[in-house]
Amino acid sequence: MPTLWFRATTEGNRLLPAVCPACLAPGVRALEVPSSGPTESVRTAYYCERCAELLDRRATFIVARLGAAALLGIGTATSLALVLGGVRLGLQIVLTLLASLLPLAARALTSRGSVGPALFHADGPASQSVWIAERQDFLGLLETKATRVPRPLARPGGAWELAPALLALVWLSALHGLGRADLRVIQSGDAEAVVLIDERRRSTIAPVRSEHPHAARAVSTLAGRRRLGIVSERGESLVDVVATLWPGRDYVLGNLPPGQCLFLERQEYGKTGAAHELAQLPGQGPIWELPVTVDLWFSPLSTRPSSRPSLDTSGGVRTAVRLLPCSGAR
Ligand SMILES: [Zn+2]
Repeated sequence: MPTLWFRATTEGNRLLPAVCPACLAPGVRALEVPSSGPTESVRTAYYCERCAELLDRRATFIVARLGAAALLGIGTATSLALVLGGVRLGLQIVLTLLASLLPLAARALTSRGSVGPALFHADGPASQSVWIAERQDFLGLLETKATRVPRPLARPGGAWELAPALLALVWLSALHGLGRADLRVIQSGDAEAVVLIDERRRSTIAPVRSEHPHAARAVSTLAGRRRLGIVSERGESLVDVVATLWPGRDYVLGNLPPGQCLFLERQEYGKTGAAHELAQLPGQGPIWELPVTVDLWFSPLSTRPSSRPSLDTSGGVRTAVRLLPCSGAR
C-alpha cells in the first residue's frame, strides 16, 4: 500500500461513481466510507466483490487480533499473580503490558501490504466533501484535481489498539484486590518467630501455649501457589511448606502446642433451640484449610440460648476455630 495518497475536494452532495475505489472494477457492494476527519454525513462507496471480501476479512482479523491480545494479557497477568503473588508488582505490570501489546507489535512489523479501505471521507469547509483515495485515477472520475497527502490511518486506531492492554491491567488489579486468602499463623514455643511468604518476611508472631483470642497472627496474601514459612529468631526453619491457597478461603498455618488440636465449633442460634457442634479439624498441619467462613478465632462461642443472634452472624449460625486438648472432642 503506497504511503502517499491523493486528496480531492468536491461539492458536498456529490455522489461517488459506481466503481471500486481500490481497483476501478465495476462496484457491486455498497460499503460505508470510513472518516479521516470530522464528518456528519455517511458516505457509501461501491467496492467490487473481491475487494469487499478482503475488507471483510480484514475486519474479522482485527477483531481476532484484539481478542488474542486481551487473552494473552489476561493469561499472563493470571500466571504472574499466581507465581509471584504480592511481590514485584512493577514487573507484573510491565510483563502484562508487554504480553498484551505483542500482537500489536507483530502487526506493526508485518503491516506492509495489508489491506484496508482505499477511500476515506471528511467534511470540508462550506459543506464540501474531502476525499482521500489510494488511487489518483479514482479521484479523476470525480473531475477534480488531486493533491498528494500522507496515507490516512485505518481504524481501529489508537484507543482501540490499547483496549486489550487496559483490560489486562484491570484484570491484574482485580486479581490483587479480590483474589486474596487469609491465613492465621500460629507457633508454639517460647520465642517469637517470623512469618515468611514466598521467602519474604511478612510479620512476627508471639509464641502460643494455649488458646487465647490473640493466639494467631492474621496475614492476608494473594491466592495461588505460595511458599509459606515460619523461621525462629535464630534462623531455624520451623515450617516450610508450598501450598495452593484459594481466594476467599481461611487457612491456619503453623505448629500447634503439644497435645493440642484445632477444632471447629458451630453454634446455631434460634427459637427452635441451639444446636452445638465441636469437631476436630482433620489433618496434621502445618496448614489447615477451613471448610467454612470463621466468625471467631481461638475463643469459645457463647452457648447460652438467650445469647443475642447479633448482626454479624450468618443466618443464625456462628463458627469459631478453637485450640483445645486433642482429647477434647465430645
Ligand atoms: Zn476492487
